[in-house]
Amino acid sequence: MTFSNLRLIKPLVMALEKKGYTEPTPIQEQAIPHVLDGKDVFGCAQTGTGKTAAFALPILQLLDAKKESNKSRVIKALILAPTRELASQISDNFLAYGKNLGISHCTIFGGVSQGPQVNNLRRGVDVLVATPGRLLDLMNQGFIKLNQVEYFVLDEADRMLDMGFINDIKKIIAKIPVKRQTLFFSATAAPSIMKLANTILNNPVSVAVTPISSTASLVTQSVYYVKKENKRLLLKHVLNNSKIEHALVFTRTKRGADKVAKDLNSIGVSAEAIHGNKSQGARERALKGFKNRTIRILVATDIASRGIDVDKLSHVINYEIPEQAETYVHRIGRTGRAGLSGVALSFCAHDELTYLKDINKLIKTNIEVVSTHPFN
Ligand code: AMP
Repeated sequence: MTFSNLRLIKPLVMALEKKGYTEPTPIQEQAIPHVLDGKDVFGCAQTGTGKTAAFALPILQLLDAKKESNKSRVIKALILAPTRELASQISDNFLAYGKNLGISHCTIFGGVSQGPQVNNLRRGVDVLVATPGRLLDLMNQGFIKLNQVEYFVLDEADRMLDMGFINDIKKIIAKIPVKRQTLFFSATAAPSIMKLANTILNNPVSVAVTPISSTASLVTQSVYYVKKENKRLLLKHVLNNSKIEHALVFTRTKRGADKVAKDLNSIGVSAEAIHGNKSQGARERALKGFKNRTIRILVATDIASRGIDVDKLSHVINYEIPEQAETYVHRIGRTGRAGLSGVALSFCAHDELTYLKDINKLIKTNIEVVSTHPFN
C-alpha cells in the first residue's frame, strides 16, 4: 500500500516523501479513504499510531479541492486537542504536510499571552488547532467565529474527558454548524466515550488499530529490582554502561522529576525536567533541546508527557513504576512508534511490586528481570 493508492494528491505525497514516510500506517490506511469520501469517522487509536496524519492529510486535501470556490480565509477546519503539547504537534503536522498547498493554519493554547495568537487569527486562517479553554476565551472576546467550520476533529477525546473538558467541548460544538464532517479520535472506546461520540457524530464509520495492551509487544522491556535509595546510582550506571544516547525518564511526581534532572546534571549528563509547574516557555525549550539532541535526557511526569512526540525515541526509563498499568503502556508507547523498535527499562523498588504485578497482568507477559547489576 502506498500513499498514492489512498488517492492522496501529489503535493501531499511529496511532503510525505520528504518526511521519509513510505507507507501509510494501519490507521491511515483505514481512515483516509473514508475521510476523503466525506464520512464521519470514529477512530480508536492512541498516540504513536500515526493518527494525526490520518486526519490532517485528508482534511488538507479536501480544503485544497475547494480552494478556488472558497477564497476567503475563514476557519474551515477546527482541530481540538486536550494539551498544548499535542496542539503544537498537530500544528507541526499541518505545517509539514501542507507546505506545498498554501493552506494557512494557526495554533492557540493557554499559558502564554494571547497577543500573537490573536494577530495570527486576524490574518485569517483556514485551519485552527486549539485547546478548549483558550478557544472559548478567544471566542468570548469575539476574536474567533466558527460558523464556517466544515471539518471538525476531536483528538484524544478520552483525555479530554479525563481532564474535565466536557462542558467546554459542548459549548464549542454549539457554535459550529450542524452540517459538517466530524472526526473523533480516542485511545479507548469506554461507554462515556461512546456516549459523547454518539452525540456529535453522524452515521460514522469506525476504524480501530492495536488495542493498548498489545502495543507493548513492539518494545523490548526489562525490569531492574533496586532499593529506592539506589535508583540514582542505578540510573547513572545504566547511562554509563549502555548505548543509550537519548532517553525519556519518567517519575511519578514533579519534585521527583526535578530531582532526577538535577542529579543527572551534577554528574555531567545533560538533562531537563518537564512538568506542570514549569512555564510553557521552559517546557518548549526542554522539548526542543531534547528533539534536536542537545539534551540527552528528558525527565517527565505522566501528565507533562502526554502527546510528547519525539521521532525515533529509542529508550524510555521508568525511574518510578506508575500506579496505573495503563500508564505504563502509554509511557513505553513513547518509544517503538510507527513500527520502530524501542527499549523500556523499569526500576522497581519493593513498594512498587504490586504495580509491576498489575502491569504484567495487563500486558500478559512477565517483563524480563535484569539481575546482573551492582544494585540488585
Ligand atoms: P501520531 O500517532 O500521529 O502521534 O504519530 C506518531 C509518529 O509517527 C509521529 O512521529 C509521526 O510523524 C510518525 N508517522 C506518522 N505517519 C507515519 C508513516 N506513515 N510512516 C512513518 N512514520 C509516521
